Amino acid sequence: MSDRVVWIRIAKSAGFCFGVKRAIDIALQAAEENENVFMLGDIVHNEFVVEQIRQAGIRIVEDIDEIGDGVLLLRAHGTVPEIYRKAEERGLRIVDATCPMVIEIHRIVRKLADEGYTIVIIGDRNHDEVRGIAAQVSHALVISTEEDLREWRRAYRKIGVVVQSTQNIEKVQQILNRLIPFCRELRFMNTICKPTTDHQNEIRQMPRENDVMIIVGSFTSANTRRLTELSAAINPRTYQVPSAAELRADWFEGCATIGISAGASTPDELIRDVVHTICHLVAGAEVEAAPEKPAGNEPDRK
Ligand code: SF4
Repeated sequence: MSDRVVWIRIAKSAGFCFGVKRAIDIALQAAEENENVFMLGDIVHNEFVVEQIRQAGIRIVEDIDEIGDGVLLLRAHGTVPEIYRKAEERGLRIVDATCPMVIEIHRIVRKLADEGYTIVIIGDRNHDEVRGIAAQVSHALVISTEEDLREWRRAYRKIGVVVQSTQNIEKVQQILNRLIPFCRELRFMNTICKPTTDHQNEIRQMPRENDVMIIVGSFTSANTRRLTELSAAINPRTYQVPSAAELRADWFEGCATIGISAGASTPDELIRDVVHTICHLVAGAEVEAAPEKPAGNEPDRK
């Protein structure tokens, strides 16, 4: 029998961030205490978590007008003020699971707008978090890619920039460089949240130190896809799997170390399943050391 050991290393930051964990806890508690609980869209981009929420009795609707009466649950990445207003008009009780870090971005853009800055948000223009941030002020410009700046024709006196909480800092830096010629004063608030920063720092290091990288999470999760992209750019032996069922033994041929990370919407059970399955697929696979993961990846700074 071979005594070769293949080490499995799990990222400390893998899995639920503080805001997602908090939102799920709030949702499950609301379902326990109330009969009719509704949510506009899925709580996070992960099929397993969405199913858990459905099983708890929470109904997912696309439009607030579909709700007769009951409780409206707001998701971790927040929403537009219009939803609060409509809920109030309809007499719906709001249970707000918006992540405190997203609420902080809302506060920052309002303050910058009050100080006369033209607001620029770097983020995915179709993401609800970005829509929610933009709706805090009467006018905001969204930049999703450097290409968007090609459309810009005028210069601004004062630009105040915030960032969607899950953006990649390198991309943000590139956009900031391109923004400089468009203004006399540029104020940048780095609103990428700490759990995202931790995730991205680890994913810059782990693919260099491991032969194979496995990223666990749904293909519908933007932050999981971003981790996969960052990892694949460093280590081509990077594979994203929504669950353990998609793992293939041939990915691990000849490897001595396997790194595992997971998006902020991936439950710990899925990560554990993946680790367990790799231990079956790969002869000599052992988990190197239990990661010290702070409960829910609590933030200590924005
Ligand atoms: S990714 Fe960051 S901002 Fe978004 S829910 Fe998690 S902790 Fe909050």
